Amino acid sequence: MVKQFIKNYSIGDLEDYFRSIGEKEYRAKQIMIWLYEKNAASFHEMTNVSKKLRDLLDGAFSINALECSERMISEIDGTEKYLFKTHDGHYIESVLIKNEGTEDGRLTVCLSSQAGCAMGCRFCETAKPGFIRNLDTAEILDQLSHVRRISGQRNNNIVFMGMGEPFMNYESVMRAADIMNYPFGFHISVRKITISTAGIIEGIERFIDERRPYNLALSLNDTLPEKRERIMPVEGRNPFMEISDMLSRKFPTSRNRLTVVYVMRKDNISMDDAKRLKKMFRYSRIKLNLIPLNQGSHEYRPPTDEEVDRFVQELEIMNVPVTVRKSFGRDIFGACGQLSGRRYATREGSDNGLNTI
Ligand code: SAH
Repeated sequence: MVKQFIKNYSIGDLEDYFRSIGEKEYRAKQIMIWLYEKNAASFHEMTNVSKKLRDLLDGAFSINALECSERMISEIDGTEKYLFKTHDGHYIESVLIKNEGTEDGRLTVCLSSQAGCAMGCRFCETAKPGFIRNLDTAEILDQLSHVRRISGQRNNNIVFMGMGEPFMNYESVMRAADIMNYPFGFHISVRKITISTAGIIEGIERFIDERRPYNLALSLNDTLPEKRERIMPVEGRNPFMEISDMLSRKFPTSRNRLTVVYVMRKDNISMDDAKRLKKMFRYSRIKLNLIPLNQGSHEYRPPTDEEVDRFVQELEIMNVPVTVRKSFGRDIFGACGQLSGRRYATREGSDNGLNTI
């Protein structure tokens, strides 16, 4: 019999399972606590479960859906990047960011939702291999289990900003987020879970209609639709203006937090861009999060520090609430837009100290 990944099971699914084998429903909670709170790596650790049931579970399920093939630690800021291998041989990455010393001082885990990505954003490394496949819930949750176990760190802020487009894998991502939030799961507050999208209208609308309580981040990255479409093909079928109209009609600002992400390149930070941003956010209290473009195999040029400061000042003068996201883990290719699932070997003399193997 092929073993199932147990982390694909919601609490309801586990209750159904235990009922179906003539066990009490409360076993579901017991097992969830072992899997998530205690981060058990094997059923044999579950000492408040009978040996017979442990053996049965061990025969039917696997706990870990991923294998960790590599952990890299940034020498600059301690950021940790994890390369995971799926059961069918694909590579995905997660990043642990230690925001110590920054205003919020939190630990953030950045998770992948797909192997590869279909969005084709021109400035992002994840787009390069194209789309491989959706990750299932167990593969999403298992990234966090491994990162916690290996790093020994626990209180995490979760961002779905790794490889892939979460809203093209809606169900598995929501199921994973729900288990993260669930009291017998990872028990992480909904305020600490953020889902980032390149802007899939259908997914965003469904997210709102289903009253999902998580934070939303929207990757804008340009102020002119034609220019945006050139760097983000998703704009074609999902015009940002339509998203923005829909959000202003429907988004429950009191419950969810919405951030708009703007990756700064040399050619999207003019005074006119600042004015257009001001216009876009005139009536909202949306926070604008600016990220200086990170290095990759793309042709775009990052702004200088002075250009970043000037753009921020222009926005601040116009009262647009803005924060600049510091990039972590650039030396291990672990920053935004740098996750490719490729393996690197450190070699002296290369541009960035990293060479593909
Ligand atoms: N597909 C989703 C989730 C991935 S999040 C989304 O697009 O939101 C990855 C974030 O990194 C996005 O906000 C994206 O705009 C940003 N990004 C991509 N390439 C980048 C680069 N080279 N430098 C800085 N940020 C980048």
